[in-house]
Amino acid sequence: MAFELPALPYAANALEPHIDTRTMEIHHGKHHAGYTNNLNAAIAGTDLEGKSIEDILKGMDMNNGALRNNGGGYYNHCLFWEVMSPNGGGAPSGALASAINDAYGSFDAFKEAFAKAAATRFGSGWAWLCVHAGGKVEVCSSANQDNPMMPGIGCGGTPVLGLDVWEHAYYLNYQNRRPDYISAFWNVVNWDEVSRRFEANK
Ligand code: MN
Repeated sequence: MAFELPALPYAANALEPHIDTRTMEIHHGKHHAGYTNNLNAAIAGTDLEGKSIEDILKGMDMNNGALRNNGGGYYNHCLFWEVMSPNGGGAPSGALASAINDAYGSFDAFKEAFAKAAATRFGSGWAWLCVHAGGKVEVCSSANQDNPMMPGIGCGGTPVLGLDVWEHAYYLNYQNRRPDYISAFWNVVNWDEVSRRFEANK
């Protein structure tokens, strides 16, 4: 079974004005599609065919550049679309809110730590909120299409929220103003989905 590009869970213009339509169209229809096709090419004829993407990431041969870049790119973007929503924003509740408060003291302090991870990731990469076994949450970042589930990457937890800070994610609308894109992201975070991922992986 080959991996398939998932449909966006909302229209390409649904996250306006925070993320513009053209960026969403190119990001999903070209970049994510490319990672998907190249992942399928990288696993074709190998014993990875039929494995879940999570198992492929956890067992990643970090010297296999095509698999590392495209397996990460496939998974990371699948997560990214789902943790955003036109009805997003606000703040988490319940057990996730408690875990964030335990780790960072307050929701605002967490946002500051996450924004710093996103802003200081030099070049291309991702900022993450991850959960560790036992329920502790932690912010980290990773380069390129790496993911904390890969051996030796980031904080080693399971991502529950991710922000793409590649220039292809924001340059059309924000040009070099990555901090403005990071600030806008909070308006579209789908905390229900982040909580679902937290509960499933804690
Ligand atoms: Mn991207």
